[in-house]
Amino acid sequence: MTPAPHDPHRTDVLVVGGGNAGISLAARLLRTGTARDVALVEPSPVHRYRPLLNYVGGGEATTADLERPMVDVVPDGVRWVRDAVDGVDLDARTVTTRRGRTLAWSRLVLCPGLDEDWAATPGLQDAYAAGWAFSTYVPAAAPLVWPALRRLREGTVLFTVPPEPAGCAPTALKPLLMACGHWQRRGVLDDLRVVLALPLRHAIGVPDADARLEEVLAGYGVEVWREATVESVDPVVRTVEVRTPTLTRRLEDLALAHAVPHYTAPGWIEASGLADGDPAGLVDIDPETLRARAHPDVWAIGDAAALRTTSSGGALRKQVDVLVHNLAAAAAGGRLRRYDGYTVAPITTSRRRLLLVETDRSGARRRRLPLLSRARPRLSAWLLDRYVLPRWYWRGILRGRV
Ligand SMILES: Cc1cc2nc3c(=O)[nH]c(=O)nc-3n(C[C@H](O)[C@H](O)[C@H](O)COP(=O)(O)OP(=O)(O)OC[C@H]3O[C@@H](n4cnc5c(N)ncnc54)[C@H](O)[C@@H]3O)c2cc1C
Repeated sequence: MTPAPHDPHRTDVLVVGGGNAGISLAARLLRTGTARDVALVEPSPVHRYRPLLNYVGGGEATTADLERPMVDVVPDGVRWVRDAVDGVDLDARTVTTRRGRTLAWSRLVLCPGLDEDWAATPGLQDAYAAGWAFSTYVPAAAPLVWPALRRLREGTVLFTVPPEPAGCAPTALKPLLMACGHWQRRGVLDDLRVVLALPLRHAIGVPDADARLEEVLAGYGVEVWREATVESVDPVVRTVEVRTPTLTRRLEDLALAHAVPHYTAPGWIEASGLADGDPAGLVDIDPETLRARAHPDVWAIGDAAALRTTSSGGALRKQVDVLVHNLAAAAAGGRLRRYDGYTVAPITTSRRRLLLVETDRSGARRRRLPLLSRARPRLSAWLLDRYVLPRWYWRGILRGRV
């Protein structure tokens, strides 16, 4: 394919979404000289390092640890458009925005993340408003999680792992297992009924890691409901209905629920003809080259892309690598590289131990961090996840250095 001729009225690479994916990609494009000019469309004034939300929910971090003004993380040299995309015109090669802008691009990279789908679980949003349901996945609710879990002495508490798509869904186990460690130390675990609703049969889908997690859950006396998703919530009487393959089960008079909402891709992706046809409406890309199947100048990475692997921030390091190479290769008519679906699932098993699982798309183990990625929870892995990776994120990943 011949490179598109330079058009001064079009941004060379337009990136949609200034989360982990968009900022690290924009920084790397400039650092490597892969793009002439880069613009970023992002409405939020705040950038979040989302993995720390679970440590807020475990009383090990504060919101201030994970938030930075967006203006501080948008790389120098990137034009930041403070607006939200609400449509893509593939023929005109433009995006439109909520505030009525039309932005022309030569190459478009979509990484707007996922939207909460409150309608999928009737009553859940009202239960959040009532204060007895919350989760670390909803940033405004995350600071409420630890004070409520820490105070709990008796009753029934429900935890859920969201069905795919969701940002690194297995990490929804972190608040559960950190809370269990706390309740055990305080001697109140036996007075609590702790129920975990898993959307699949196992938490991760990697046999040795799942076996280790099963031991940990059994050790804390957690009742595991498998292939179970919350169907509806009664916010007034604190009742939750959970659908399983054989029956709908009820939990009544709940003390608390760490219930993660379901997610979909933003609706304008489907409305613009870019979705993969699944109900969640993810961007239809070749999951190996990261290029839209029907539109060679459109690419996607991150949670909103149909990558056929568990999405995670750890996966993005690899995706950004491949995408930067492929943007350059496509422009020069070279060979595209392939993303193997590498991803990570870091799961705290207690207040100071973490199980780090790295896999590829097939579920086979991949060990990029060989000393830490083992079938045994470790303090060193916990310290890496809580303290080292956040520094690496702000100083390296978001600056396009890693
Ligand atoms: C609670 C939680 C814990 C996690 N823990 C871990 C972990 O321990 N390890 C790990 O590797 N991963 C973890 N993840 C997953 C990781 O954070 C995500 O995979 C990663 O943030 C995805 O990056 P993204 O850029 O695709 O999406 P996001 O980081 O969600 O960013 C999307 C950006 O797009 C913007 N946007 C939205 N709509 C529009 C629009 N219409 N126009 C323009 N911009 C738009 C948003 O404002 C946002 O800034 C966790 C996620 C959560 C929620």
